[in-house]
Amino acid sequence: MADTPTLSVTMLGAGQEVGRSCCVLQYRGRTIVCDTGVHPAYSGMASLPFIDELDWSTVDAILITHFHLDHAAALTYITEKTNFRDGKGKVYMTHPTKAVHKFMMQDYVRMSSSSSDALFSPLDMTMSLASIIPVSAHQLITVCPGVSFTPYHAGHVLGACMFLIDIYGLKILYTGDYSREEDRHLVKAELPPIRPDVLIVESTFGVHTLEGREEKEARFTNLVHSIIRRNGHVLLPTFALGRAQELLLILDDYWRKHPDLHSVPIYYASSLARKCMAVYQTYIHTMNSSIRSRFAKRDNPFVFKHISNVPHTRGWEKKIAEGPPCVVLASPGFMQSGPSRELFELWCPDSRNGLIITGYSIEGTPARDIMTEPEDFVTLKGATIPRKISVDDISFSAHVDYSQNSEFIEAVKAQHVILVHGEQAAMGRLRSAMTSRYKERDEDVKIHAPRNLETLHLSFRGERVAKAIGTLADKPVKTNDILSGLLVAKDYSYTLLHPRDLKDFAGLTTATVTQTQRIVLGVGWSLVKWHLEGMYGSVEEGLDNDGVPTMRVMGVLDVKLTAEHELTLEWESSSSNDMIADSTLALITGIDKSPASVKLTTHPHSHSHSGEEHSHPHADPEIESSSNLRIQRLAMFLEAHFGEVELHMPDPSEEPEQGESDSEPLLLVHLDEAEAQISLISLTVHSSNEALKRRVEAVLDMAVTTVSSLAESFMSTAPVVVEDGPPAKDKSSTPAADENHDGNKSPEAEEAVADEDAQMAKSEE
Ligand SMILES: [Zn+2]
Ligand SMILES: [Zn+2]
Repeated sequence: MADTPTLSVTMLGAGQEVGRSCCVLQYRGRTIVCDTGVHPAYSGMASLPFIDELDWSTVDAILITHFHLDHAAALTYITEKTNFRDGKGKVYMTHPTKAVHKFMMQDYVRMSSSSSDALFSPLDMTMSLASIIPVSAHQLITVCPGVSFTPYHAGHVLGACMFLIDIYGLKILYTGDYSREEDRHLVKAELPPIRPDVLIVESTFGVHTLEGREEKEARFTNLVHSIIRRNGHVLLPTFALGRAQELLLILDDYWRKHPDLHSVPIYYASSLARKCMAVYQTYIHTMNSSIRSRFAKRDNPFVFKHISNVPHTRGWEKKIAEGPPCVVLASPGFMQSGPSRELFELWCPDSRNGLIITGYSIEGTPARDIMTEPEDFVTLKGATIPRKISVDDISFSAHVDYSQNSEFIEAVKAQHVILVHGEQAAMGRLRSAMTSRYKERDEDVKIHAPRNLETLHLSFRGERVAKAIGTLADKPVKTNDILSGLLVAKDYSYTLLHPRDLKDFAGLTTATVTQTQRIVLGVGWSLVKWHLEGMYGSVEEGLDNDGVPTMRVMGVLDVKLTAEHELTLEWESSSSNDMIADSTLALITGIDKSPASVKLTTHPHSHSHSGEEHSHPHADPEIESSSNLRIQRLAMFLEAHFGEVELHMPDPSEEPEQGESDSEPLLLVHLDEAEAQISLISLTVHSSNEALKRRVEAVLDMAVTTVSSLAESFMSTAPVVVEDGPPAKDKSSTPAADENHDGNKSPEAEEAVADEDAQMAKSEE
């Protein structure tokens, strides 16, 4: 038997540091990269992970956990400036992450393009954005043969998720940044239902214990109130997105309860964040129940009553700084430059003012340096000024603390735990604390804390060597030959033998176990067929010996329509057949619940029911099922954006009448009262509602560019020829002139912010 494969884990960044997260997983010839961030304390090339240490053309997938720059901002450089494009690698992140990532990167590129060491151009960024495949939490995504993954909610910021990655059966959970406490707007991180072999987990706070949410909020609002009472200004350096939304929810609520504060303005100095509010409003359904129930009562929590925007004019910092007491949330959170730095320098020498650091401050940044409360501070222009402003640190950064992290690590129950995203000291303390916890209980769990570029080679219990005996051992075996037989386990030793040798060698006999499973059917027979074909390719359909309609899946599993609303699954039990049965069962029971379910109708005006024949007499079944798959993928894309999608196939038994649309296959999208029709032949969109038409076109365009197989003709058997190129791009224009062609076709919020984009472009010139 071949030597046992090992998993190699290499940190190109975030190994014993916080910043430039980049983790490379290699197993059995597959390579997955989790996160591609920059280090905020450095600039230019120095801020990148150690990307030269990897041949990027070998990467199968890059998975981005969330939109923070220390996890996502190096993506453009990697996709556009390395040989990543020469390979087959794909890039994945959740829908909200992709939507916010676009704005974050526009801002990042604008800030860095002024400096001489800019890493990439706005065009590179646009190209990179176009290649991102958006995914949803709990979706199982197959990357390539042997590699799949599922995202789970991670709390932390909107859209943040963990990835449960499966490489040839080896399971790795990569948490990214996560929080286990529900806050004002986000759900807490989930514990994935499957036990992984390896856990790669953040360790930002080490063995530190954070105060509870209510205490922390009270301490924060009391402090803000007392600074106002002493006639001071309050500066809250924050990132435009993520935790700022949490602070705004807290402050808005506190102001509502304190009328004496209504004359004191709270400024939110971020045009970027204003653009992204539409994204927050779009993804309210992914937030926690308190936000959703307020929204349901038409009380949109993100429409703040007491928060004002700063004026769009130059020099507003000075105007506000010289005015009456106020509270300002300004970016960047680390105060390297920009509005937060400018306000800090203006308010620094006055003891009435107060600075509150609300996030985790990365080593080497001004926000971290100021926490030592130095007597003086050196401005960007090089002047030394006295530091009289009060400095406090109340963290809302949404990382787990020691008790939450250790509890989670223990609950996950992996054999190997790899600590990342923590400074050396914090990580070291967490490592020894966890190691001694496991030692006390005599559990064999390895805790690793690798430095950058220090590759871990992990092997796993459960890899076994078996001895072949009997008939199997008679024939000489060449290398790479695969032997199959029965595996007999006795006292931890394994023997592989031919079934007919079983009695002689082990004193056992063979038997066949037939398994059956009955399920209630809530959908039509033809819809079941549709889904089975989408998953397994063509299925054999016919009648069994008792005349029951039967579909055979993968040649081993029979799906039978045993009663009007009942299906029975039948298969011969074996580990591989049981697996097919499991996945078929999951597929069938998910049909009516799945958001990606397509409502099939054989006639535009009537729904099909179980037992009804659904066929295209002239279609080649193989071509038909591959176009089915493509239609299904397109429908999934559309459903992710618009909710339910309906498929209308022409009825082959009926001559097309006056209504031409009846004679071609269509997908129908509904939004409120409006409807849009997508022709599956020409890939064109028709709708009486112009706005809906444009949005559907944008999503269609995104679907066609991101799922390569969609670019092929949808209906290969259809008489109409598909023109070259994605037809949705009928508006000819240059990238600069047309927002829709900037490469990111994500329609969320695009329209809502289009006006503001234009305004911003003007004010920034
Ligand atoms: Zn983060
Ligand atoms: Zn982070």
